[in-house]
Amino acid sequence: MYCRNCGKEIADNAAVCVNCGVSVGKGEKYCPNCASETSPDAAVCVKCGVALKKTSDGKVSTGVVGDKSKIAAGLFAIFLGHLGIHKFYLGEKKEGLIKIIATVVSVLAIFVCFVGVFMLIAVWIWNLYDAYCIFSGKTTDAEGNELS
Ligand SMILES: [Zn+2]
Ligand SMILES: [Zn+2]
Repeated sequence: MYCRNCGKEIADNAAVCVNCGVSVGKGEKYCPNCASETSPDAAVCVKCGVALKKTSDGKVSTGVVGDKSKIAAGLFAIFLGHLGIHKFYLGEKKEGLIKIIATVVSVLAIFVCFVGVFMLIAVWIWNLYDAYCIFSGKTTDAEGNELS
Protein backbone atom coordinates (compact mmCIF):
# COMPACT_ATOMS: atom_id res chain seq x y z
CA MET A 1 0.00 0.00 0.00
CA TYR A 2 1.18 3.52 -0.79
CA CYS A 3 0.42 6.86 0.87
CA ARG A 4 -2.31 8.77 -1.01
CA ASN A 5 -0.62 12.03 -0.08
CA CYS A 6 3.11 11.50 -0.78
CA GLY A 7 3.25 8.22 -2.70
CA LYS A 8 5.74 6.55 -0.33
CA GLU A 9 5.25 2.89 0.52
CA ILE A 10 3.59 2.25 3.89
CA ALA A 11 2.68 -0.83 5.90
CA ASP A 12 -0.77 -2.27 5.15
CA ASN A 13 -1.88 -1.90 8.76
CA ALA A 14 -0.40 1.58 9.27
CA ALA A 15 -2.82 4.27 10.42
CA VAL A 16 -0.55 7.20 9.60
CA CYS A 17 2.10 7.66 6.88
CA VAL A 18 5.53 7.70 8.57
CA ASN A 19 6.87 9.87 5.76
CA CYS A 20 4.42 12.78 5.69
CA GLY A 21 2.33 12.20 8.84
CA VAL A 22 -0.98 12.25 6.99
CA SER A 23 -3.47 9.59 8.11
CA VAL A 24 -3.82 6.70 5.68
CA GLY A 25 -6.50 7.18 3.05
CA LYS A 26 -6.26 10.98 3.23
CA GLY A 27 -4.83 12.85 0.29
CA GLU A 28 -5.61 12.40 -3.38
CA LYS A 29 -2.31 12.74 -5.24
CA TYR A 30 -1.16 9.12 -5.54
CA CYS A 31 -2.74 5.72 -6.13
CA PRO A 32 -2.63 3.55 -2.96
CA ASN A 33 -2.15 0.45 -5.10
CA CYS A 34 0.53 1.36 -7.67
CA ALA A 35 1.77 4.79 -6.43
CA SER A 36 1.23 6.48 -9.80
CA GLU A 37 -0.07 10.05 -9.71
CA THR A 38 -3.83 10.47 -9.74
CA SER A 39 -5.97 13.52 -10.43
CA PRO A 40 -7.86 14.75 -7.34
CA ASP A 41 -11.34 13.88 -8.57
CA ALA A 42 -10.52 10.61 -10.35
CA ALA A 43 -12.77 7.75 -9.20
CA VAL A 44 -10.45 5.08 -10.55
CA CYS A 45 -6.67 4.90 -11.04
CA VAL A 46 -5.98 5.12 -14.79
CA LYS A 47 -2.83 2.98 -14.39
CA CYS A 48 -4.04 -0.04 -12.42
CA GLY A 49 -7.81 0.43 -12.34
CA VAL A 50 -8.14 0.40 -8.56
CA ALA A 51 -11.06 2.40 -7.14
CA LEU A 52 -9.96 5.66 -5.48
CA LYS A 53 -13.34 6.59 -4.09
CA LYS A 54 -13.23 7.43 -0.38
CA THR A 55 -15.56 5.86 2.13
CA SER A 56 -17.57 7.69 4.78
CA ASP A 57 -14.73 7.39 7.28
CA GLY A 58 -12.01 8.54 4.89
CA LYS A 59 -10.71 5.08 3.99
CA VAL A 60 -9.92 4.22 0.39
CA SER A 61 -12.26 1.68 -1.10
CA THR A 62 -10.58 -1.23 -2.88
CA GLY A 63 -13.53 -1.43 -5.29
CA VAL A 64 -13.72 -5.15 -4.55
CA VAL A 65 -17.00 -6.54 -3.27
CA GLY A 66 -16.29 -8.45 -0.08
CA ASP A 67 -18.34 -11.14 1.67
CA LYS A 68 -19.99 -8.82 4.21
CA SER A 69 -23.68 -8.11 3.63
CA LYS A 70 -25.01 -4.57 3.41
CA ILE A 71 -28.41 -5.66 4.76
CA ALA A 72 -26.90 -7.45 7.77
CA ALA A 73 -24.56 -4.55 8.61
CA GLY A 74 -27.39 -2.00 8.21
CA LEU A 75 -29.82 -3.95 10.40
CA PHE A 76 -27.11 -4.48 13.03
CA ALA A 77 -26.51 -0.71 13.03
CA ILE A 78 -30.22 0.08 13.52
CA PHE A 79 -31.09 -2.58 16.11
CA LEU A 80 -27.80 -3.53 17.79
CA GLY A 81 -25.80 -0.40 17.08
CA HIS A 82 -25.53 0.49 20.78
CA LEU A 83 -23.36 -2.61 21.23
CA GLY A 84 -21.28 -1.73 18.18
CA ILE A 85 -22.27 -5.03 16.53
CA HIS A 86 -22.26 -3.57 13.01
CA LYS A 87 -18.72 -2.27 13.55
CA PHE A 88 -17.48 -5.63 14.85
CA TYR A 89 -19.23 -7.33 11.92
CA LEU A 90 -17.28 -5.10 9.52
CA GLY A 91 -14.03 -5.77 11.40
CA GLU A 92 -13.84 -2.25 12.89
CA LYS A 93 -13.05 -3.36 16.44
CA LYS A 94 -11.88 0.03 17.65
CA GLU A 95 -15.04 1.80 16.47
CA GLY A 96 -17.16 -0.99 17.95
CA LEU A 97 -15.53 -0.41 21.33
CA ILE A 98 -16.15 3.34 21.03
CA LYS A 99 -19.87 2.60 20.55
CA ILE A 100 -19.95 0.36 23.62
CA ILE A 101 -18.16 2.98 25.71
CA ALA A 102 -20.55 5.71 24.48
CA THR A 103 -23.51 3.49 25.42
CA VAL A 104 -22.11 2.59 28.86
CA VAL A 105 -21.39 6.25 29.62
CA SER A 106 -24.94 7.17 28.53
CA VAL A 107 -26.50 4.47 30.72
CA LEU A 108 -24.41 5.55 33.70
CA ALA A 109 -25.45 9.14 33.04
CA ILE A 110 -29.12 8.13 33.34
CA PHE A 111 -28.49 7.28 37.00
CA VAL A 112 -27.10 10.75 37.57
CA CYS A 113 -29.54 12.81 35.56
CA PHE A 114 -32.04 12.64 32.74
CA VAL A 115 -29.47 13.82 30.18
CA GLY A 116 -28.29 10.22 29.76
CA VAL A 117 -31.53 9.42 27.91
CA PHE A 118 -30.70 12.07 25.32
CA MET A 119 -27.14 10.71 25.08
CA LEU A 120 -28.56 7.25 24.32
CA ILE A 121 -30.80 8.79 21.65
CA ALA A 122 -27.80 10.65 20.24
CA VAL A 123 -25.86 7.37 19.98
CA TRP A 124 -28.86 5.86 18.18
CA ILE A 125 -29.00 8.75 15.70
CA TRP A 126 -25.27 8.16 15.15
CA ASN A 127 -26.09 4.48 14.47
CA LEU A 128 -28.84 5.49 12.03
CA TYR A 129 -26.26 7.61 10.21
CA ASP A 130 -23.97 4.54 10.09
CA ALA A 131 -26.87 2.54 8.64
CA TYR A 132 -27.48 5.28 6.06
CA CYS A 133 -23.79 5.15 5.03
CA ILE A 134 -23.91 1.35 4.86
CA PHE A 135 -27.06 1.26 2.70
CA SER A 136 -25.85 4.04 0.41
CA GLY A 137 -22.59 2.16 -0.24
CA LYS A 138 -20.32 4.70 1.47
CA THR A 139 -19.15 2.21 4.06
CA THR A 140 -16.66 -0.58 3.44
CA ASP A 141 -15.40 -3.30 5.74
CA ALA A 142 -12.10 -2.93 7.63
CA GLU A 143 -10.15 -4.06 4.55
CA GLY A 144 -11.81 -1.46 2.32
CA ASN A 145 -13.92 -4.03 0.46
CA GLU A 146 -17.39 -2.96 -0.63
CA LEU A 147 -20.38 -4.60 1.01
CA SER A 148 -22.38 -7.06 -1.04
ZN1 LIG B 1 2.78 10.14 3.09
ZN1 LIG C 1 -2.95 2.59 -9.48
